[in-house]
Amino acid sequence: MAKYKYLLFDTDRTLLDFTKAQRAAIEKALTKYGFKVDDEVQDFYTSWNESLWRRLEKREITHDDLVKMRFVVMCSRYGVPYPGYGKIESDYIIALSEGHDLLPGALETIQALKEEYRLYIVTNGIPMVQERRLKESGLIEYVEDAFISEAIGFNKPDIRYFEEVYKRLGEPPKEEILIIGDSMSADIKGGVDFGVDTMLISEHAPEGFDFSPTYVVDNISKVEEYLKKLE
Ligand SMILES: [Mg+2]
Repeated sequence: MAKYKYLLFDTDRTLLDFTKAQRAAIEKALTKYGFKVDDEVQDFYTSWNESLWRRLEKREITHDDLVKMRFVVMCSRYGVPYPGYGKIESDYIIALSEGHDLLPGALETIQALKEEYRLYIVTNGIPMVQERRLKESGLIEYVEDAFISEAIGFNKPDIRYFEEVYKRLGEPPKEEILIIGDSMSADIKGGVDFGVDTMLISEHAPEGFDFSPTYVVDNISKVEEYLKKLE
């Protein structure tokens, strides 16, 4: 018998290729405003945006702050006139919603697990973006529900996010729930604080954290086999 009944999957960098989607969206959105989008611009945006998300996860800023800050700073750094609040952001969001490439093995894994488990999506992001990407990637057909942070009102790893998700699952025994994701600070921290088992998808063992995942699997395509061994 399966050890878990409810598998809660993160989306970006767990099932979908976020790096690719983000790079394409940055190129499309920023070129329109006069940026010369090269690797340096892409890399700076990636690390700047990541740092804002880490601050959001620690509740130092709100999602609204993040959205306001990310392109203002890009414009000032690269000497591009800021077109006004919301303009680049909304072009970027639309472009990002178009990126839905699956990571290798992700769809096959979800299809196979669907036979035995109840599958859900737990993702930080904006409903308009994440819903479209989940639909166009085909993932949505295999999950019972998708819990998107901006619709829930809190972000992973905030315990209030997981409390709301738990309610919507019908409050099953916590031992039946497993959270699967690539982020120590969002997925694993959230699961640990909430008191459910977690599986980190990572090629490297996590270092420098005062908490740890229940399991580490190096690749999404190995998840099904790994879960079988736990039965
Ligand atoms: Mg992720």
